[in-house]
Amino acid sequence: MNAPRAPLRSLDDALVALLAQARPLPGTESVATFEADGRVLAEDLVSPLQVPPQDNSSMDGYAVRSAEIADEGVPLAVSQRIPAGAAAQPLQPGTAARIFTGAPVPAGADAIVMQEDTEALDDGRVRILRVPEPGQWIRRSGEDITRGSTVLARGQRIGPAAQGLAASIGRDRLLVARRPRVALFSTGDELVMPGQVAPEAMRPGAIYNSNRFFLRSLLARLGCEVQDLGIVPDRREATLEALRDASASNDLILTSGGVSVGEEDHIKPSVQQLGALDLWQISMKPGKPFAFGWIAKQSSRGNTARADDGTPSPTLPRQAGEGSSTYFIGLPGNPVSSFVTFLLLVRPFLLQLQGATRLEAQAVHLPAHFDWPRPDRRREFLRARRNAEGGLELFPNQSSGVLTSTVWADGLIDVPGGQAIARGDLVRFLPLAELLA
Ligand code: AMP
Ligand code: MG
Repeated sequence: MNAPRAPLRSLDDALVALLAQARPLPGTESVATFEADGRVLAEDLVSPLQVPPQDNSSMDGYAVRSAEIADEGVPLAVSQRIPAGAAAQPLQPGTAARIFTGAPVPAGADAIVMQEDTEALDDGRVRILRVPEPGQWIRRSGEDITRGSTVLARGQRIGPAAQGLAASIGRDRLLVARRPRVALFSTGDELVMPGQVAPEAMRPGAIYNSNRFFLRSLLARLGCEVQDLGIVPDRREATLEALRDASASNDLILTSGGVSVGEEDHIKPSVQQLGALDLWQISMKPGKPFAFGWIAKQSSRGNTARADDGTPSPTLPRQAGEGSSTYFIGLPGNPVSSFVTFLLLVRPFLLQLQGATRLEAQAVHLPAHFDWPRPDRRREFLRARRNAEGGLELFPNQSSGVLTSTVWADGLIDVPGGQAIARGDLVRFLPLAELLA
C-alpha cells in the first residue's frame, strides 16, 4: 500500500543512494587540450620528460663557477652569451657566461649571479660584486615534473591550470569521459518564457520560467550536452510524450517542478508508467521533494515496473543508467530549492557519471556575523556571503522562492537540523565558486 507521504530521509542518505546508482558512462573521447576545460580525464597522464628539461637560469645575469669567486670584486672574462632557447657550451674555466632567464645553465657552472650584483667593465669583462652561493638562481631539471611521474590522474576534472600542466608535458590532446547527454524540461502551466510574453502582457498567475535558465547553464558547466525540451504542460499525456522523447537519446532526464504531492504533479505517475520512480522527501531546506528513477528507452504501455513511495524499489538499482534505460531526476519547482538540490545532489551525480573522483566541494569554517536563533528541524542551507572582516552575513530573506538570495550570496551555510547559531560561532560554509565550477 502506498503511503501518501514518504518518510523524511537525510541529505547524506539521499546522496549515498543516488551515487550508488550513478555508474560511470561507457565511452571516452579524445579532445584538444585547448577544449578540455571542465571535462573529466579518462587516462593517467604520465610525463615522458623532465620539466624543466634541463637546469636553467631563473635570472638575467652571469653563470659562474662559484669556487672561483672567493671575494667580492673579482673580474671575469665573458666567454659566451646564452639567451633563452639557445644551447650552451661548457663554461671555460676562469670566465663567466652572460645568461638570461630560462636559458640552459652551461656545464661546469654551478651558480648564477644576477645582473644587479655585477658591473659590466669597459674592456668587456664583468665584475662580480657579491660572492655567489653554489646553486643560486638555478632551476633544476625535473624540479616541477620528473620523467615517469603521473602529473594528472584519471578522474581529475580539468581546469585551466591542468590544461597548462598537460601542455607542459607535450600533450595537445587528452582522453576524457564523454559528455553526459541530458534532457531538460520545466513543468508548470504558470510558466512563460521571457521574450515570448512581455512583462506588461503577463496573464494573472503567470510567472517567468527562471529554473530553465540556471539549470541549463549548470548542466553546461558540468560538461553535459543539453537537449532543452522547454516547458511541458501539467497534463499526463504531454508529460508522457516528453519523457518518451527525452529517453530515446539521453543518459539523464532532468525536470523541475511537479514532484510535490499535489494533484497537478504529473511527473510521478508518468515516470512510473514508463519505468520506476522513488519520490524522496529529503530533510533539507530549501529542497525537500526530490524524485529519482529511470525510464525504459523502448517505452511500452505494458511496462509494469513500479516503485513504491519512499522505499527504494528493487527494480531501481538494476535498471537505472543501463543501455536500455535513462536516469530520471525531478527537482522541486521553487527556484532556490531547484538550485540548491542541483548543486548538492545532481552535481555529484553528473560528476560520477563522468568518472570524476572528487565529487564534493571543500567546505570551510568561518565565524557567523549574525544570529540564527530559531533553526528549522531540517538541515538548512542558508544563502550567505563573506564580508571584509572574514565573517559571514546572511541574506535577509531565506525563502525558497527568493532567487535574489542566490545571486547576492557567495556560498551556502550548512546548518544542522535544530541547531541555533549565535554571532561568533564557527559555521560550515560551502563556497558557490566551488559548487558552480
Ligand atoms: P511545483 O514544484 O511545481 O509545485 O512548484 C513549486 C513552486 O515553484 C511554484 O510556486 C511554481 O510556480 C514555482 N516554479 C516551478 N517551476 C518553476 C520555474 N521553472 N521557474 C520559476 N518558478 C517555478
Ligand atoms: Mg508545478
